Amino acid sequence: MQLEHVKGNTYYINFPSIIGVYIFPDETCLLIDSGASSAFASKAHKLLRSKNLKVVAIFNTHAHADHSGGNSYFQKESNCDIYATSFEAAFMENSLLGPYCLWTASPVNMLRNKFLMPEASVINHKIKPGRIFINDEIFEVVDLPGHSMEHVGIVTPDEVFFSGDSLISLHNLEKFPFLYMADVEKHIRTLEKLKDFDYPYTVFSHGGLMSDVKNVVVENRKVLKHILTLIEDYIKTEKSREEIVSHVIKEMNLPDNRNQYILIAGTISAYLSYLCNTKKARIFTDDNNLKVILSDK
Ligand SMILES: [Zn+2]
Repeated sequence: MQLEHVKGNTYYINFPSIIGVYIFPDETCLLIDSGASSAFASKAHKLLRSKNLKVVAIFNTHAHADHSGGNSYFQKESNCDIYATSFEAAFMENSLLGPYCLWTASPVNMLRNKFLMPEASVINHKIKPGRIFINDEIFEVVDLPGHSMEHVGIVTPDEVFFSGDSLISLHNLEKFPFLYMADVEKHIRTLEKLKDFDYPYTVFSHGGLMSDVKNVVVENRKVLKHILTLIEDYIKTEKSREEIVSHVIKEMNLPDNRNQYILIAGTISAYLSYLCNTKKARIFTDDNNLKVILSDK
């Protein structure tokens, strides 16, 4: 684990989920996301202290536990302010909301784990896309919804773009060819927007500094389209959501375990919302089962 330099005052710590670091002239720093857990955060904190850096703020791209899992640790240790969009803030302040949404009720205990439920933290600044000042420097918050409802990226004063989970690297797509999503329509628009981005440096939350981002956008769009086609072909005859989830897991050779099932099922719901809300499919009950079918042309 080390502090990787990108440009000017912008760095990142390369964990499984990276932590961006922007260093201010007074030897304080802003973190972009906080790592997957208190244990990761503690290691990152040790590294930062060895460089005489004090954490004054965290900017969260979104609420997922692998991005906000260190919030609580840093808030306790360095009393830092946390910045996030309001929808994501609700999940970080009430961390049971994550598993609650996945389960649609008070969740079974197996879902109350550190992968799905980070320790709660207090979000001091509810932000919107556009310019924000942190410690008297200007950062640009970029609206990139889809992966989560109010997912955002951030551009540091060095023009380094942290894209959060809006894009998955080719390396990670090779290992796991699936995109988690909360809103397909929004994510399609986000990918369209990312196609035209031209920042000299882009840092992915999983993968670090990336080149050839335009190609990554194209490949992410292909995966989205592939999942959509898989579902459209399958619901030519009526199917329940559970049947669709099982079909997608099998066809895409995805891992068969409880955590993944719940996350994939959430993504399938997002696809079904997209298909129904754009009138490409319809939802109805049949013999006491909720079914989806492709609309008649
Ligand atoms: Zn995420």
